[in-house]
Amino acid sequence: MRNYSLDQILLLELLAFKEDVSLLVAPSFVVDFDYKTFVPLMKGIGFDHVFEITFGAKVVTQSYQKYIVENKDQEKFISSTCPMCVNLISARFPSEKKFLLPFDSPMIAMAKIVKKNFPKEKIVFLSPCTAKKFEAKDSGLIDCVITFKELKQLIENVNPKPIECSHLFDKFYNDFTKIYPLSGGLSKTMNVKKIFAQNQTISIEGQKSIVKLFESNPKQKFFDILYCNGGCIGGNGINIKTPTFFKKHSVKSYIKNAKKEKIGERMGLNKYTKGINFSKKF
Ligand code: SF4
Repeated sequence: MRNYSLDQILLLELLAFKEDVSLLVAPSFVVDFDYKTFVPLMKGIGFDHVFEITFGAKVVTQSYQKYIVENKDQEKFISSTCPMCVNLISARFPSEKKFLLPFDSPMIAMAKIVKKNFPKEKIVFLSPCTAKKFEAKDSGLIDCVITFKELKQLIENVNPKPIECSHLFDKFYNDFTKIYPLSGGLSKTMNVKKIFAQNQTISIEGQKSIVKLFESNPKQKFFDILYCNGGCIGGNGINIKTPTFFKKHSVKSYIKNAKKEKIGERMGLNKYTKGINFSKKF
C-alpha cells in the first residue's frame, strides 16, 4: 500500500466495503476542485450522496440570529463555527468563553441532518483544515474527515472515472450559504447590519489578529472570527498554493455561477430538521 494517512485508508475501506457513504463538502472546495466535474468524480469514487454543508450553515445562521435577538441584552456574542477559534478563546481568554454562541458548527449541523434523513449512511467530511478532524472525533457523528490535500492525492493514485450524472450537489433544500468560507462571510449571511449598529460588529481573521483584538478589551458586541488568514480558504488542508486573492476569486465566481442553478424547493426546511437539537455547550 502506498504511503497513505490513516484517514485515507479509512476512506478507502469505507468505499471498498460498499457501505452507503455520504460526502459532506466544505464550500471552500472550489479553491482545489473544479465545480463542474466534482460531483460526477466523487460519485465515480463511490460516494452515494455528495452534499455541500450549506444547509447546515443555514441552520446555524438562523440559530445565531434567533439567539441574539432573544438575548439582546447580553454583553457580546462570539461566533463558534471554527474549532481553532473555540480553542483559542477557551485557552487564552477563558472569561470570554461564555460568549461563544452555543450552537453546532455547520459541519456538525449538516452531519445531524444527514443522520436524521439517512440513518444508515456513513459520513465523510471533506475539510480545508485538520482541526475539523478533532471536532468530528469529539462529535461521534462523522466517520472520517479527509482534507482537500488528502483527497487530491487519492484521486491521483486511484484515478477514478467520473460517472454520468448531474454536476449539482444532492440537496435537501435550495440553499446558497456559500460565502461562509471567506472572512466576514458569516456576518454577511446573517445580515448582522439589521441586528447591530455598524460599530458594534467586527469580522476578523488570523490567529495573531484575533489575539491582539481580544487583548485590547474590544467594545463590539458581535465577533465574527476565523483562525486562518483569509478565512477557511487559508486552511492547512488546502492543496493549492496560490495567493489569497485568487482563492477568494474562485469562491466568488462559484457563488455567482451556483446562483444561476436554482433548483428544488425553497420551503420545507423544517421537515428535514424537525426534532434535531443544534445547541452546544462550550
Ligand atoms: S478558519 Fe481555518 S481552522 Fe477554522 S474552520 Fe476554517 S480552515 Fe479550519
